[in-house]
Amino acid sequence: MAVQKILQLGDPALYEITEEVQESEMHRYRMVIADMHDTVMDFRLKHGFGRAIAAPQIGINKRLVYMFINEPRVFVNPVLSDFDRQMLTIWDNCLSFPFLSVKVKRHAACTIDYFDIKWSRKSERLEGELSELLQHEVDHLDGILAIQRAVDTKAFAVRGHEQYDK
Ligand SMILES: [Zn+2]
Repeated sequence: MAVQKILQLGDPALYEITEEVQESEMHRYRMVIADMHDTVMDFRLKHGFGRAIAAPQIGINKRLVYMFINEPRVFVNPVLSDFDRQMLTIWDNCLSFPFLSVKVKRHAACTIDYFDIKWSRKSERLEGELSELLQHEVDHLDGILAIQRAVDTKAFAVRGHEQYDK
């Protein structure tokens, strides 16, 4: 287990579409998941935020998301559906551009289907914080960054200076 370097905005690898994990290769990704845990925790210590990370952010081109909110969660091959029409407007942030906030709109609720670390198929309705967070993370798996979801061209702020309120 080790803290990995987080790819930063500007790295072309962040724009790549990732590949699905196969059940037969899952054992190979246990170490990657441990690294994702260590990397999020290290980031939190340094920056005071950070709830989740997607594998491509540490240079692994696979559909894997690790989240730690009170407890560890692993989402393998997550797929979102049944998006609520109601949108949340939030200042979003990302481990790949820790000094930037971007105002985005996310669906207030959605459903996630995924495999857990033991390869059990799961489905869960996500609301509020979990809904917006997993939309951010699944976007990473499709090579989409929060800045590409900006509500308009003024929706950017240096972190801690979010005053734009349109
Ligand atoms: Zn991110």
